[in-house]
Amino acid sequence: MSRAGTGTGASTVIAEAAVFTEPGRPLDLLDLAVRAPLAHEVRVRLAATGVCHTDQSIFTGAIPFKPPLVLGHEGAGVVDVVGSAVTGLSPGDPVILTWLTQCGSCFYCVRSQPELCETKPATDPSAPPRLTRDGDPVAQLAGVGTFSSVVVVDAAAVVRLPGDMPMTSACLVGCGVLTGIGAALNTANVRPGDVVVVLGCGGVGLNVVQGARIAGSSRIVAVDLMPEKLELARRFGASTVIQGTDPAATIESVRELTGGRGADVVFEVVGLPSTARQALELTRPGGRMCLVGAAPLGAAMDVPMYLPFVSQQKSIIGCRCGSTNIARDVSFIVERYRRGDLLLDELVGNTVPLTKINDVMDNLDSAAVARTVIDFAV
Ligand SMILES: [Zn+2]
Ligand SMILES: [Zn+2]
Repeated sequence: MSRAGTGTGASTVIAEAAVFTEPGRPLDLLDLAVRAPLAHEVRVRLAATGVCHTDQSIFTGAIPFKPPLVLGHEGAGVVDVVGSAVTGLSPGDPVILTWLTQCGSCFYCVRSQPELCETKPATDPSAPPRLTRDGDPVAQLAGVGTFSSVVVVDAAAVVRLPGDMPMTSACLVGCGVLTGIGAALNTANVRPGDVVVVLGCGGVGLNVVQGARIAGSSRIVAVDLMPEKLELARRFGASTVIQGTDPAATIESVRELTGGRGADVVFEVVGLPSTARQALELTRPGGRMCLVGAAPLGAAMDVPMYLPFVSQQKSIIGCRCGSTNIARDVSFIVERYRRGDLLLDELVGNTVPLTKINDVMDNLDSAAVARTVIDFAV
């Protein structure tokens, strides 16, 4: 077995964690034992974590996962202990955690599709579990499990941050921000002058809006049901906002804005068949529609084959975590944030302690804020 690492305390520590035990049942707030990191691992003390719709989908059972499991997959914190083989990280470093790891050398990584990296972090089957409750293992969602005050993760899931970013903002970078910004800049490759429509203006949708702004979009139309989110969308760069209560009226408005053609690029950031069909209608001939929203596992989209595709040459593009190259995109996001033209602090609607996690889960869909953040310091 690999040798444990060194740092400010290389023995087992106790974490406070929110554990998924059964679909629909409130998460259990439990003390878990967190062991020291092995050679290729890092132990991180979480400062903050975002709560993403994917967490809620697992919580409700819409996306099935085996319990017991610590949910949460976007977080920021401080390195506590580093494994003996880890380079470039030291105890005390501020970091973000990401659920996606990229090896740089597999089939996909060398073909510039690192978001599909097929190299799983090395796991030693004889290694003891990272998190335990009374000796029984507790898994971590996507190898991170950020609803825990301390975690052990593979070093590849850790990205170092500059020291001056608020942790409550930085924690959103690892999933929602990378996905939204990347959807515009990488996946759909928004070009200067493109007219863009964004359906759904939650934490990810707002980042699609600002990604399209950074890409030089000439007009960004943001659509959501909640006026508060449309206000935020304006702040993030939307030039037109539409309260999408009447889908036919939304289509009419976009046609009016685009000479009857439809938009160059339409992002579906809701994850529903109805909004996906609407997105295809809003896309101009030859344009592209990008599916970003995390749809329930069985959700299906029924669309005609001939007219939109064979005749009008529309494209549907899938989007996995904004087709991100993590090292490149995190430093891009940090630099743009420091220059003031990429908004992160404004994404943080509420900050609450971990003890409120079940309230956050229950109210995620009706929340008028972009993101609710769990702050481990409160
Ligand atoms: Zn997420
Ligand atoms: Zn790879």
